[in-house]
Amino acid sequence: MAYAIVGANWGDEGKGKITDMMAKEADIIVRFQGGANAGHTIVNDYGKFALHTLPSGVFYGHTTSIIGNGVALNIPILFQEIKSITDRGVPEPKILVSDRAQIVMPYHILFDQYEEERLGGKSFGSTKSGIAPFYSDKYAKIGFQVSELFGGEAELKEKVRRVCEVKNVLLENLYHKPPIDADKLLEELAGYREMVAPYVCDTSAYLWEAAKAGKKILLEGQLGSLKDPDHGIYPMVTSSSTLAAYGAIGAGIPPYEISKIIVVCKAYSSAVGAGAFVSEIFGEEADELRRRGGDGGEYGATTGRPRRMGWFDAVASRYGCRIQGATDVALTVLDVLGYLDEIPVCVGYEIDGEVTTEFPVTSKLDRAKPVLETLPGWKSDIRGIREYGKLPENCRRYIEFIEEKIGFPVTMVSNGPGRDDIIYR
Ligand code: GDP
Repeated sequence: MAYAIVGANWGDEGKGKITDMMAKEADIIVRFQGGANAGHTIVNDYGKFALHTLPSGVFYGHTTSIIGNGVALNIPILFQEIKSITDRGVPEPKILVSDRAQIVMPYHILFDQYEEERLGGKSFGSTKSGIAPFYSDKYAKIGFQVSELFGGEAELKEKVRRVCEVKNVLLENLYHKPPIDADKLLEELAGYREMVAPYVCDTSAYLWEAAKAGKKILLEGQLGSLKDPDHGIYPMVTSSSTLAAYGAIGAGIPPYEISKIIVVCKAYSSAVGAGAFVSEIFGEEADELRRRGGDGGEYGATTGRPRRMGWFDAVASRYGCRIQGATDVALTVLDVLGYLDEIPVCVGYEIDGEVTTEFPVTSKLDRAKPVLETLPGWKSDIRGIREYGKLPENCRRYIEFIEEKIGFPVTMVSNGPGRDDIIYR
């Protein structure tokens, strides 16, 4: 049996916190897509951690953490991350890396940087972790699977030379940068082989057996619905599917194993990178929410850059929950809003004079203006409250208003960054 924990919005909804919390009762936690381009911030008994590649279950002794085949695996970053947590007293986690996961190559990172430079003002606001060039190569069938590090030496050498030939044409002629030295790259790959060897596993077979044995699996998503390449705000999206449905593919489990889809939804909005953001706010109003947001402000876990801020967007969130197939909604960071006298909520989009509650395609989205409804604030600190009935009335009204607008049940309310800051309904 598997539960997917995925995002309803633009990412940074607090999936890491919900996963870390639910991992207490789970056996296996799987990352199924994305790479080291986004991060989860987790606060637990060991301290505060920013994870980029490791699943959020690594802090427990009883769990196995899996890097699934759908992930963009940056091997040196994975190993730095393991070291960074064990150096701070976390016991060595049990980690398995799919033999079918593909490797982020050093040139993917370079191509990401060079392309963003080339695009100038039209850039995607990439974190320059090589994710888009990585997935492009995966689907162009010139990527490298972990398993290839352990195949024939001659085959690897031949493929590296073949791929470098293509890459070097672009490097020299489009970007005017130095070419890749194939021999040096092969040496680097030999280093990767040594680093990853103890962890490589046929993780799909492992998960099949685990599911048969009744183990509880969590699939941890990265980013959120609106960053999905098919259903998000294309082209300002990420390069792998952020949806629970892809969890089956990116982990290598049967779709019917996913019995619960917990969609993490933020009580206000934040986004990183470029792209339409209808309920965005600016100036002092945004600065204050950014300062007070999350745990210590809304700044990127990977880049440290300030996130764009906005009011809760019921149109985007309803769509985000629907496209994920939410069975449960976890509404997070509600405590942050306790300072506001009144809280605007975006309940519709006005496009060319018409109001809609359906999330539109990008060309229309760019013209959408928010229709706001204002709810009274609760003007108090709700951290530490553990029962729904003990929340201030206006706070419950806000939750119930959101629940009605999105049309999916809010079964968990998160009122602080810690593992225990949760109210079940
Ligand atoms: P993720 O990528 O979806 O896991 O989200 P991030 O880790 O990037 O951002 C969520 C931030 O909010 C982290 O700093 C969390 O510690 C913090 N956080 C999560 N849930 C809550 C909550 O209910 N209240 C507050 N104040 N912070 C939270």
